[in-house]
Amino acid sequence: MNFFFLFLIGVVLPLAASAQQLTPLARQPHWASLQRYANTITASKLEQDLQEVYVPDGSWKNWITITPEEAVIEPYPDAPAEQALHLPLASSEADCKTVPRYWKRKSECDSLPGKPLAGIKIVLDPGHLGGEWAKMEERWFRIGKSKSVEEGTMTFITARHLAKRLRALGAEVDMTKHELGPTTPLRAAQLRTAAIQELKKEKVVCTPHRLKKMEEALFYRVAEIHHRANWINEVAKPDLVICMHYDAEEWGNPKHPKLFHEERLHFLISGDFSEGELVNEDVRYTMLMKLLGRTHHEVVEVSDDVAKAFVAATGLPPFTYHNPAKARPASPNNPYLWNRNLLATRLIKAPVVYCEAYVMNDREVFERVQLGDYKGRRQVGSKCLPSLYREYADAVAKGIADYFGKQIIICKKP
Ligand SMILES: [Zn+2]
Repeated sequence: MNFFFLFLIGVVLPLAASAQQLTPLARQPHWASLQRYANTITASKLEQDLQEVYVPDGSWKNWITITPEEAVIEPYPDAPAEQALHLPLASSEADCKTVPRYWKRKSECDSLPGKPLAGIKIVLDPGHLGGEWAKMEERWFRIGKSKSVEEGTMTFITARHLAKRLRALGAEVDMTKHELGPTTPLRAAQLRTAAIQELKKEKVVCTPHRLKKMEEALFYRVAEIHHRANWINEVAKPDLVICMHYDAEEWGNPKHPKLFHEERLHFLISGDFSEGELVNEDVRYTMLMKLLGRTHHEVVEVSDDVAKAFVAATGLPPFTYHNPAKARPASPNNPYLWNRNLLATRLIKAPVVYCEAYVMNDREVFERVQLGDYKGRRQVGSKCLPSLYREYADAVAKGIADYFGKQIIICKKP
């Protein structure tokens, strides 16, 4: 370590942190809007949720002070006292006001016999863009003349199967997109100003190549996710969102990808925000919106059922994170569930089941992608397997039906 590096850590990083108030393309938070959650939570529940789910590194204490009567929230570092938000807290669970929300809990849904999802609105969000965009978003690889492996195309095929299955179970289903490609009208070249700002924040020289890469990343990774989340929150207003992804190991050169014998599954739940992530004002605000929106319990329960159905169908083992700053276990009873801060799960206000399934560059999965989508079963090595996409969709549909179906039994008991 040299002195210049120490200088960077000691001087430049704090300056960068105070300048970097918002994540790219984020809206300026409207802190007063949190007052809609006044008296909806007790001091002890707020502290428990902050410490156990949302900010387990304890850094929330840098900007939130909890007393039995109120939470005092500093909107930005060293804000004058009159700028602080005073959120009144309920004196007991019995005194809590109803949490304002557009989504229905399962106990509020009237299911019909044979239609466990009747009255439930579900939005499916197939991850990534796919098709001709797959190379740009670096979700593409191909071996020689094989069929290319494109995550965005795979999630889209899976989501269309899942939509059919959920509709058959009685749900009203919509999708964040109806064809491959982006939903945002923005394009990479329109994000030049934001891209230059990001490169400045990262303290790297703005070469034409770096600028192009940053514009593209802001387009497919940030603008696209913001656009989908806005549509879900403001137009679709569903009771549940299912984000679908295929996991992967680092494949290296996309034209000479590395293949592995590796399979796994996990589900990501909004939480485990780190001190570094909370440097951004919009992240602090959306974290609190998420906590006060009170989806966490619901999401753990429904993800638990989907994980169990998935494991019963596929036997996929759980993925394990080893860095608590990145993700922490969400349930002592289910090793497949992880709290992690992702843009999509923190922006979407309704409960989100976020699936990360299989490994695209696992040898068997690669072989299954080559077989395409098909009815029935086909030989894959020594196994006889359904289409990868239908297996995924069937497992998720079963888990969702199990979750909402349980309520029928509880409700219909005299
Ligand atoms: Zn993905």
